[in-house]
Amino acid sequence: MTLYYDNLKQLDHSYLWHPFTQMQDWIREEPCIISQGEGHYLIDINGRRYFDGVSSLWCNVHGHRKKELDDAIRGQLDRISHSTFLGLSHVPGIELAQKLIEVAPPGLQRVFYSDSGATAVEVALKMAIQYWQIKGQAKRTLIATLAESYHGDTIGSMSMGYSETFHRYHKSLLFPVVRITPPHVFRYYQEMSADEAVNAAIDEADKKIKENKDTLAALVVEPLMQGAAGMWAHPVEYLQALDEICRRYGILLVLDEVATGFGRTGKMFASDHAGVRPDIVCLAKGITGGYLPLAATLTSEQVFGAFLGDYKDYKTFFHGHTYTGNPLGCATALANLELFQRENIVDNMQPRISYLNKRLEEEFLPMAHVSDVRQWGFMVGIELVEEKASRKSYPAEKRIGHKVIMEARKRNVMIRPLADIIILMPPLSVTDAELALLLDTVYESIRAVTEN
Ligand SMILES: *Cc1c(COP(=O)(O)O)cnc(C)c1O
Repeated sequence: MTLYYDNLKQLDHSYLWHPFTQMQDWIREEPCIISQGEGHYLIDINGRRYFDGVSSLWCNVHGHRKKELDDAIRGQLDRISHSTFLGLSHVPGIELAQKLIEVAPPGLQRVFYSDSGATAVEVALKMAIQYWQIKGQAKRTLIATLAESYHGDTIGSMSMGYSETFHRYHKSLLFPVVRITPPHVFRYYQEMSADEAVNAAIDEADKKIKENKDTLAALVVEPLMQGAAGMWAHPVEYLQALDEICRRYGILLVLDEVATGFGRTGKMFASDHAGVRPDIVCLAKGITGGYLPLAATLTSEQVFGAFLGDYKDYKTFFHGHTYTGNPLGCATALANLELFQRENIVDNMQPRISYLNKRLEEEFLPMAHVSDVRQWGFMVGIELVEEKASRKSYPAEKRIGHKVIMEARKRNVMIRPLADIIILMPPLSVTDAELALLLDTVYESIRAVTEN
């Protein structure tokens, strides 16, 4: 057992470079090596079980080794694992497109597949830019985004979702965008009430979009919750105002629902809370129930129609990836959508969302080093600070967030922070008992690190 572990650990340390990981720290720590999953638990090669508190990085929906999803993959394996979508079609790709449009926000009619959240966003970006070019409005080449939004790690996605922490070395590669300040009271509007902040943020969005109304192609937004920024929530009214502003100035509204999609915020899509009508929607993470890399960019018939023409007019959308619309991914996504229906996933979440909310407000918010708690559905950020009154952050070298998750790990709960913000993202099918366990453990872990 330990010999096996030591051998794998040595190989990991010799050959791997993990994403978003300071490898110097990684090599000093004992790696947790996962070998199995079962329901909402991860199991390491020593047989230890951990509750999967961030849904394997925000994408798992029904737990691991869910029979219906496993069967869908096996069934598709017996037919075909991959065949191209360039100039050919296939069964699960067609069936999934129809199902996606059925559940998607109204007005969307066309599905363009790719492989990850970042590619779904790149596709949206290129679609929006090309749309205006072929419509004869060639000046519309600018994109507006929210400050500290996160859209993925490819060049276009980084340009739109710039983060100083993540992207400082690649600034030279990025294109300029119009950046709009979201109504995040903790960071930008500390002197204001939440309502005042929303009004100020709407005024700013209106002003900046109006100033650039002839050159903007699209506004790209993570609806209701800016996830990787540290769970920055905004209210429904802000999203509705952005929708209205886009319509007023005739620019496209692109919603990046990569994290918020598939039930995460307590409705199928975040845009469903607001009743907005996006022109383009990006989906990934939960689309396959957290099983396989698949993404989709959905758009309206109006946007799609602009790309039609004679071949010689070169209106074609020349974009695609080798594994675009991978059949195994599509078959899994189809089974995932069926489970949403059959198991009433979104309805069943509601009492647990309330329970989560109650405990966060009553137990976590009063904690000595918790400055803010933000929640939309099963997306939660708990912000830790050194000094509550002044909201003074901990020095980065203290790695407070990391220490808290390591305490949780000792207690068999797996979570991952964003700096000093503790993120909770339980699988949507989490039980009452498991949710209680997650909260109890995180509470104890925060206390263990911050209160002695
Ligand atoms: C995770 C995420 C992405 C990137 O998705 P990947 O599959 O990691 O490329 C894009 N947008 C949002 C809002 C995300 O949370």
